[in-house]
Amino acid sequence: MPPIVMQQAANAIINWNDMGLSILEVSHRSPEFESVILKAQLLIRELLHVPDNYEILFLQGGASTQFSMVPMNFLNNKLYAAYLDTGYFAQKAMQEARLFGQVQIVASSKDKDYSYIPDLPDIPTDAAYIHCTSNNTIEGTQMNSFPENKVPLICDMSSDIFSRQVNIKGFDLIYAGAQKNLGPAGMTLVIAKNEFLNTIKPPLPSMSDYCVYRDNRSMYNTPPVFSIYVALLNLIWLKDQGGIPAIEEENSKKAKTLYQEIDRNTLFYGTATTAHRSRMNITFKLYDAALEDDFLKFTAKNGIVGIKGYRTVGGFRASLYNALPLSSVKYLVKLMQDFEKEKKADHFDLETVNY
Ligand code: PLP
Repeated sequence: MPPIVMQQAANAIINWNDMGLSILEVSHRSPEFESVILKAQLLIRELLHVPDNYEILFLQGGASTQFSMVPMNFLNNKLYAAYLDTGYFAQKAMQEARLFGQVQIVASSKDKDYSYIPDLPDIPTDAAYIHCTSNNTIEGTQMNSFPENKVPLICDMSSDIFSRQVNIKGFDLIYAGAQKNLGPAGMTLVIAKNEFLNTIKPPLPSMSDYCVYRDNRSMYNTPPVFSIYVALLNLIWLKDQGGIPAIEEENSKKAKTLYQEIDRNTLFYGTATTAHRSRMNITFKLYDAALEDDFLKFTAKNGIVGIKGYRTVGGFRASLYNALPLSSVKYLVKLMQDFEKEKKADHFDLETVNY
């Protein structure tokens, strides 16, 4: 999160808009909070160029709840849904979908530990929808293009939404857990085409029915007030940075800086296929895995935390979300260079001793 947003959020916890009330205690039915929801929706529409026939909804339960809500709403009474199997979260999505009907994996990169994005297949026209994951947070791969066909397209954009321009019109429903580029955890963003929502067949449990959120302006029950408010602050920050085009350029610079070092440094290698490297989550390993702990201790000692790779993958993962400045990436690069020098010196010492 940008420091200024955290400061504004902290102020709002003590005294929001000089009302003598905390954002944590304000009624979600108050006109002030209704205006927060409205402003956040308008900014999302503006920043992502969301067409008028799409709804912007705020839900709860994280992206993981969307894994089951999507099939609950759209797989019902249909033969099967098509899924792109591109990693850990795609698998989670399929696991939930199987509770509601048939899942057909139409492309997979499982054969190479999800280190690439498989070629986009021709999707059979009788599929209820096709589901994809735009950025594979754990494996460090990112889709550069999306399926284009008559089957409704649903995308989990949790880890790269607001980081780059996408053509919203190409999708029927997009969902994203908030906790990366949007705001703190608690709110889930859904952007859905109205015509697609109209295909939902009731009855469904209210809290699992997209139409209930649409028809109640995302306030069927108490929404995650604080999370939505901080997302609004974050969106204002994003607009002040120059919006998506400016942040996309900055994100490319950050990713390029780190990948260049990974490719140059004799100790490290990137785990994702070059053409499908993520600009948000950069995964890399040491040729000599025995040095992993050393590198983690070295970075921690120098003030960098949270770069240990996900437990199923190992190695390292640097997440370069919107708010992370280029200077932080340069600092990590410097530490990788220092580590390389240190190891070379150790090696040299050993060689001298052996000699
Ligand atoms: N999908 C992707 C691509 C993610 O990166 C994550 C979380 O990191 C999830 C889904 C799960 O999100 P949540 O924790 O909000 O349920």
